Amino acid sequence: MASPPRIGFVSLGCPKALVDSERILTRLRAEGYDVVGTYEDANLVVVNTCGFIDDAVHESLEAIGEALARNGRVIVTGCLGARPETITERHPSVLKVTGPHAYEEVVSAVHEQLAPLHDPFVDLVPPQGIRLTPRHYAYLKISEGCNHRCTFCVIPSLRGDLASRPIGEVMLEAERLVQAGVKELLVISQDTSAYGADLRYSTGFWGGKPVKARFTDLVRSLGSLGAWVRLHYVYPYPHVDEVIPLMAEGRVLPYLDVPFQHGSPRVLRLMKRPAHAEDTLARIRAWRSVCPDLAIRSTFIVGFPGETEQDFGLLLDWLREARLDRVGCFKYSPVAGAAANDLSDPVPEEVKQERHDRFMELAAAISAEKLAAKVGRRMRVLVDAVGEEAAIARSTADAPEIDGVVRIIKAGRLAPGDWADVEITGADAYDLTARISRRH
Ligand code: SF4
Repeated sequence: MASPPRIGFVSLGCPKALVDSERILTRLRAEGYDVVGTYEDANLVVVNTCGFIDDAVHESLEAIGEALARNGRVIVTGCLGARPETITERHPSVLKVTGPHAYEEVVSAVHEQLAPLHDPFVDLVPPQGIRLTPRHYAYLKISEGCNHRCTFCVIPSLRGDLASRPIGEVMLEAERLVQAGVKELLVISQDTSAYGADLRYSTGFWGGKPVKARFTDLVRSLGSLGAWVRLHYVYPYPHVDEVIPLMAEGRVLPYLDVPFQHGSPRVLRLMKRPAHAEDTLARIRAWRSVCPDLAIRSTFIVGFPGETEQDFGLLLDWLREARLDRVGCFKYSPVAGAAANDLSDPVPEEVKQERHDRFMELAAAISAEKLAAKVGRRMRVLVDAVGEEAAIARSTADAPEIDGVVRIIKAGRLAPGDWADVEITGADAYDLTARISRRH
């Protein structure tokens, strides 16, 4: 078997940057990368920089220089990444620069430069488990690979077609995690709603009872464990409608992460997106009529080759109508080996940036309005971290690391992993502020 790709990691700066480093590392480890302790043993080095004060800038630039001299292949992230020219002027040979908290971007930069090893067994059940810190939430990977061929993506060529884990195995792992104290399960894969298609939805056994390897059956079974269950990477196939009542009943979190990627049918066709012909706005309306509290998160790509101003206008109209709760946006950038690289009419960089900014401005305004409407409401939250002045928690609408937080002021003696009932006292574009109404 080929040996796993090896990453070196240098983390500079404040505790926040350290948390970012931990997140990047845990994700990379979960994907099968080895993290090594010397520059010489690494295939690639990631430097997480600090750029707060001149000394920190200096230290960061030195660290990048050292990593380049001793390894040669360096990706830079962190606060100094917000000023990429400072880095590239001094070190033009860095492979990629990403900004602070651009956690997804760093991970995809690593993928581009050093592909994760494809081993279905390691991929499905990494030796360290799929759990990331902190202890009270855990990622549950239900399948690997993907049967789609989106033109901007190389995952199918790296990881192969959809390979679902048997349902009994997934449920056993989920059950063990909950028994070990995990309070929130984050269901992940490349295509969660396709779960079981490759197994022909075969029947497995869990707790002595037959269960089918089908998305709805899986979600229903996970919902019986008593933990929060959050669904990521769900494509809007028609059968997704079946899980919305489970959300309305409180069996699983009223949260769907659906990577819509665009709102223009023409661009979606160029992207060869799954379910591109679906009337997604009608589906969102129907979902919300069943489960009004449903929080929908999504990611989008702007500046895809061939995207016209009219397509972009359709995307903005789509978002205005869809009023998604959580939105991420990437400017299209070619990935080596992706079919989209051969498409004509590339969008100039400055147009991509301008569309990205316009899109995010609208998304932020929608988010701010939706969060402002929550002021005065009471809700249960899960505490992730406790500081001197506030505790950082998440509501049912917030996935860890990618969504907003609920900042609890005067949290008293809360600890990470605690539930707390709070009253929302304030909101900004992405986060809520709250006070305790009851602890558990
Ligand atoms: S659905 Fe598309 S973007 Fe997602 S993994 Fe499959 S090919 Fe890639």
